[in-house]
Amino acid sequence: MSTALATPRLPIAAAAALPIVNALTIDVEDYFQVSAFAPHIARSEWDTRECRVERNVERILALLADAHATATFFTLGWIAERYPGVVRRIGDAGHEIASHGHAHARASEQSRNEFLADIRLAKAIIEDVAGRAVRGYRAPSFSIGTANAWAFEVIAEAGYRYSSSIYPIRHDHYGMPDAPRFAHEVRPGLLEVPIATMRLLNRNWPAGGGGYFRLLPYALSRWSIGRINAQDRQPAMFYFHPWEIDPDQPRIAGTGVKTRFRHYVNLRRTAPRLARLLRDFRWSRADQVFLGEGVE
Ligand SMILES: [Zn+2]
Repeated sequence: MSTALATPRLPIAAAAALPIVNALTIDVEDYFQVSAFAPHIARSEWDTRECRVERNVERILALLADAHATATFFTLGWIAERYPGVVRRIGDAGHEIASHGHAHARASEQSRNEFLADIRLAKAIIEDVAGRAVRGYRAPSFSIGTANAWAFEVIAEAGYRYSSSIYPIRHDHYGMPDAPRFAHEVRPGLLEVPIATMRLLNRNWPAGGGGYFRLLPYALSRWSIGRINAQDRQPAMFYFHPWEIDPDQPRIAGTGVKTRFRHYVNLRRTAPRLARLLRDFRWSRADQVFLGEGVE
């Protein structure tokens, strides 16, 4: 039987009326691996810290199961190596497993060879643990900008099919405000899917998660994503971290006021907000939304 017969096409008007499916993504790292804490916690100390990522990922899997949604988990190679059971449970639940690099080093702070080694190692470890191909990559802290655009060549060289490493906004630690807002071929064979932004008053505003989702009222996120779907007719790329649903995580000593505010405000509200977000929009894995393929 031909595919055309198996999946009859909807009339164009009916297809246009269908709600757009957005991409839900989770950066799987623990609370002590966050870039803003890097000056306070050496990588060599990571193994000595209380691990909370396993339990937090379990909670996310339960939230997704309740909402009958699937998602993409950009996982650190460091996590996959130490907690392979987490990666297998994510895969067994029907979600996509992608790569967030190995040691959470910013792409902008590595040489080309260091960057290639890090993202190759992560891909190999995760594929070995998960037993399936890894196609997606997200740079830690959206650390690809005009100064290191060579990183896209390296991502393709390492065998990835898509990247989600740009947040096209102005931010003190990251951002590439003039980059395209939606999925685009950034070099032959590699798709870049930026984090969702809303265009208003001639500038891009964050609409795809991170601290903004916790700090600002939920209604603003709902309005922004609704506008991207209805006016731009584009899927939104949204992200969050397992530690953002964990109000009881150990506090990191010695950090500044701004870092503390960004990291700890509204942690208690994130899980209920995510449950609303899952109800208010349609969500799926990034590979299904953007590569038009998915479940192996
Ligand atoms: Zn990260």
